[in-house]
Formats: sequence, structure tokens, C-alpha cells
Amino acid sequence: MTALLEITGLRGGYGAVEVLRGVDLQVHSGEIVALLGSNGAGKTTLNNVVSGIYPAWAGQIRFDGQDLTGAHYRDVVKAGLIQVPEGRKIFPNLSVLENLELGSFTRARERRGQNLERVMDTFPRLRERATQLAGTLSGGEQQMLAIGRGMMAEPRLLILDEPSLGLSPLLVEEMFSLIGKLNGEGLAILLVEQNVGQSLEVARRAYVLENGAVRFSGSSAELLASDDLRRAYLGV
Ligand code: ATP
Repeated sequence: MTALLEITGLRGGYGAVEVLRGVDLQVHSGEIVALLGSNGAGKTTLNNVVSGIYPAWAGQIRFDGQDLTGAHYRDVVKAGLIQVPEGRKIFPNLSVLENLELGSFTRARERRGQNLERVMDTFPRLRERATQLAGTLSGGEQQMLAIGRGMMAEPRLLILDEPSLGLSPLLVEEMFSLIGKLNGEGLAILLVEQNVGQSLEVARRAYVLENGAVRFSGSSAELLASDDLRRAYLGV
């Protein structure tokens, strides 16, 4: 089976500092893949290079049969590879509705109305708060808005960067069940998380990034079952 996202030998960094040192990673249609690794391992950098925000220095990014290496981030979005960035990055001075509408600026604009309905059905809280300024939402609501905005672009693959960061334990539960639900509807997800236990529960496969390189890739069950792997790579 050809992968939906196929990253090979990816290198990248900032200035003269190489952060990604030849990353190989695949996500297939319909799967959730966890991308784990400690602070500074390069997870966000990987997302940003894949999303076209920073250039790839070497290697290849193929998505749905298309070569996206070096593509402008707008073309990455057009292809359906949608990132929900770490820290949410919503527009605080725009309303919830305006933030959602911006999600369909580049892709799926002609189906904006129906996708808005779908997102509001998924997140009734956003419907209630449609006219509220996004910056005044709670942290959990802002995270829902960021995901909802991503959904507005009809993603073929959604990259979620630390969606549970800063959420209360109850909301973390809610977030993971939402991730499971979206995946149950057929959406492929690359889940970047510090929350190892819950990520490995929803993901079937996982990669552990260490110092810009993949140190482990395999099934979540394998990673969870091995004390050595857990200790070596996850510190749990
Ligand atoms: P975290 O879980 O803490 O978000 P991460 O795995 O996502 O970590 P990155 O944010 O990709 O890690 O950072 C990898 C390395 O790149 C770190 O050493 C970081 O300091 C560095 N780095 C990240 N962004 C920049 C930047 N804009 N300019 C220079 N160096 C950067």
C-alpha cells in the first residue's frame, strides 16, 4: 500500500543548525500515527518543514502521490495536508465564526457553509460562542476552535501539534476521544504529543524522535509492552 504521507531522509533546521537529521516517516490513509519525543527533539520543526513553513534541506515529502518537497505552504494546504499548530495560533481579535471561515480560505471555500455546520455540530460550544472574540475563549475552547478551523479545509491528513497541551485532565480526555472520533470518520491524523500514554492508546503506530532522528518506529502495542523501549525512549 502506498502511504498517504511519505517522508524520506528529511533534513532541515534553522540558520546553520541542523535539527532534522534524515527523518523517515509514513502515514497511511485512515490511520492515527503518534509522533513522540522529548522537548527539543524536533517534532514541531518536522511539522513546519512538512507544512512548507520552513524549507527542507534534503530529502523528500510525498503526499497523496504528489511531491510536496519545497512546496509553498499554500499548496500544501491545497493538497489537503492541514496542520493545527502548537499553541493554537488562532486570531484573538476575530470572532469564532471569522476564525472558522478563515480555515476555508485556501481550500474547500465553495463548501464553507456546509463545513461550518459540520464543525459546529462537532463542537456545539463553538456554535454557542460564534460571535465571541476568539481571544476570550477558554484554553480548551481555543483548542477546539483551532481543530475546527483545520476541519474547515477538509483535511486529508490532519497534523495535530500538542493538542492536549495546557488542558485540564477532563478536557484532555475529551480531546483524545474527539481525536478517536475524527479518525473513526476516516480522517488520517499525525498526532504530535507529550502525553505518551493516551497517544499510544488512540494511535496504532508510533515514531519516537530523538535529536532530530527517528529512534523507534513500530506499533504502539510494541512500544507500550516493552519496559526497555518505554524507559529508553519515553522516560516512563
Ligand atoms: P517541544 O516538544 O518542546 O515543542 P519539539 O520536539 O517540537 O519540542 P522543536 O520545536 O522542533 O522541538 O525544536 C527543535 C530544536 O530546534 C530545538 O533545539 C529548538 O531550540 C530549535 N528551534 C526551534 N525553532 C527554532 C527557530 N525558529 N530558530 C532557531 N532554532 C529553533
